[in-house]
Amino acid sequence: MKKYSAGIDLGGTKILIAFINRETGEVVASVKKKTKKDKGPQNIIRKMTEGIEELFAQTSISKEEISSIGIGAAGQVDRENGILIGAPNLDCYDFHIKELISSRFDIPVYLGNDVEIAAIGEMKFGAAKGCDDFVCVFVGTGVGSAIVKNGSVILGATGTAGEIGHIIVDLNGRPCACGAHGCLEAYASRSAIERRIEGALKKGRHSVILDYLESGKSITSSMIQKSIEKGDELVTACVDEASDYLSGGIASIINFVNPKLVVLGGGLIEAVDYFYKNTIKKAKAKSLPVPASKIEFKKAALGDFSGVIGAAFLQDRKL
Ligand SMILES: [Zn+2]
Repeated sequence: MKKYSAGIDLGGTKILIAFINRETGEVVASVKKKTKKDKGPQNIIRKMTEGIEELFAQTSISKEEISSIGIGAAGQVDRENGILIGAPNLDCYDFHIKELISSRFDIPVYLGNDVEIAAIGEMKFGAAKGCDDFVCVFVGTGVGSAIVKNGSVILGATGTAGEIGHIIVDLNGRPCACGAHGCLEAYASRSAIERRIEGALKKGRHSVILDYLESGKSITSSMIQKSIEKGDELVTACVDEASDYLSGGIASIINFVNPKLVVLGGGLIEAVDYFYKNTIKKAKAKSLPVPASKIEFKKAALGDFSGVIGAAFLQDRKL
């Protein structure tokens, strides 16, 4: 067996590219490329190719030792054909990513989505190690999730299962980027909290978050954490509201899927422990008694590397 795989986490703001030891899950080497400005298929292919070349140069690993290149993209994917169908954040549509990368390196290429690879990473070497029946929920710009049953990510009829962010929690609620109204994502994401805080500030409410905010810059998870540490009422109220909605969404998933474990990750969960603790406490209380009696919660353990580690194992997936 070849000892290493390349894992690529292709996101809306950055591409993380790494060589992973398939036996130990160790990230042998990694590079990061920004995708904030020059997007589009040609730029993305160039950055990924350069990144892989840089890793070969940095390490003594040869092409013959690389078993596969796994890519997880923030968008809709056609896994069988290796096509990124649509990724508005990357300005890529009908992008034949598998064909283009495999022709450059002559190594098999596998494509999945970003949440799928993060869940595989956590299952192999992170918070869900040893568990084959769990749900991952990631809270950041949006709210994403993956359902793992018998050690495989459930993909669904169109490969889009797990869209917890678009569970409708308020029939006449806030508009969501997907076109519907009242989606969980519009209430429980970091962006939703940001909009609530900004709206209140515009109306003249005071908050210590103003001390951390630079003009023109957006609110980050660490600013939210610092404001909560200082007992800021406005930020705490906005985070409490998001946690009320998120816990409702997670309780629905616990009742519907009946998993053994829920792994929570993403920037907001990592930075704001108050949000994590409150959310799991409320989710357990809102779930039906029988599924709630067995449920376990854990924070994702691999941070930024969960995606690249998981991508290295896309080759083992059965479609
Ligand atoms: Zn939606």
